[in-house]
Amino acid sequence: MSSHRIAVIGGDGIGPEVVEAGVQVLEALAAVEPGLALEFRRFDWGSDYYRRNGRMMPQDGLAQLESFDAIYFGSVGDPELPDDITLWGLRLAICQRFDQYANVRPTRLLPGLTSPLRPELGRQIDWVIVRENSEGEYAGVGGRAHRGLPIEVGMDVAVFTRTGVERIARFACDLALSRPRKLLTVVTKSNAQRHGMVLWDEVVREVTRDYPGLTVDWMLVDAMTQRMVNKPGSIDTVLATNLHADILSDLAAALGGSLGIGSTANVDPSSRRPSMFEPIHGSAFDITGKGVANPLGSFWTASLMLDHLGEQAAARRLMSAIETVTGRGEHLSPDLGGAAHTAEVTAAVIAALEGVNSTGPSRLAG
Ligand code: NAD
Ligand code: MN
Repeated sequence: MSSHRIAVIGGDGIGPEVVEAGVQVLEALAAVEPGLALEFRRFDWGSDYYRRNGRMMPQDGLAQLESFDAIYFGSVGDPELPDDITLWGLRLAICQRFDQYANVRPTRLLPGLTSPLRPELGRQIDWVIVRENSEGEYAGVGGRAHRGLPIEVGMDVAVFTRTGVERIARFACDLALSRPRKLLTVVTKSNAQRHGMVLWDEVVREVTRDYPGLTVDWMLVDAMTQRMVNKPGSIDTVLATNLHADILSDLAAALGGSLGIGSTANVDPSSRRPSMFEPIHGSAFDITGKGVANPLGSFWTASLMLDHLGEQAAARRLMSAIETVTGRGEHLSPDLGGAAHTAEVTAAVIAALEGVNSTGPSRLAG
């Protein structure tokens, strides 16, 4: 039996808290799931590392990560350091250099959780958002000039390439086709942004022609927010740009009960380099060190990681354990309306792992 080697980067704020909880759950899972073997190696990279070394990770950090089968990540962001330094120095450095161009974010209203939407609407939430993860608004192209003068200028150029759009469109179409409803909503803003977004529309439209079995509809991003709130059941798989999907997926997680349960896979579909798995939330300065961070997002993300590693039975078992705990409603963290600490939620999920088998609902392919 071969063991999966996982690089663990807790990062900043509540990142290490929820990721360590996740490692405990994964170790407990490996103890009960036949054939599952996981090996963890921790990296203390992040803002404290920056304070000691002047950089977020070592110069050869990417080379160190390259041989791992997956990266399990917490969050970056520190109250004392500029967000662009921390984000670009670690998370974006990994995502972009490893060409993890597909960012996949499932949202479902888990049993026992309450959506801020009316109950009959909340129950309809079962979405996967596919975020372009390598270019667009986060390409890093732009500049600053004339600092401090009245003519000072700052620019971020959104970069869309035919290759970049085509590959994420194909990924989204394949994923949508693997789900029962075979429904893809493409998000755009080509009414206002008339170059890059128009190329986005053209290339996505070309790609969708290769998928006659798929129902495709289009939304402007502003109108998409109201559709998510008013007609959640009309949505299944969503394709959006780096920035649009970033914003829509925090909304999605909140509509699913809390930002604390949102999960992400940053995938290199070619599997040439390790993919990276993280909760969608950030460092949450307001609750750091209090022991109350909701770890369910990092557990859900661990289930996505197992799925990616080919461990479908273990992935389903973990998801079932999470749903058993939310369904009982006894061990929910404060953001979900409960009073449980991170450690109690973690212990409840570990206990539930014993009781559930691997036949529960799968994560992405519905
Ligand atoms: P945030 O996600 O850290 O927090 C937003 C709100 O949600 C806070 O009130 C927080 O307490 C709550 N929250 C988030 N996760 C929670 C959890 N697991 N359990 C309970 N409550 C939770 O967003 P922010 O405040 O905009 O950002 C804080 C820092 O995190 C910034 O430095 C930002 O750049 C960084 N950030 C990093 C990532 C990442 O590394 N992927 C993502 C988002 C934000
Ligand atoms: Mn975000």
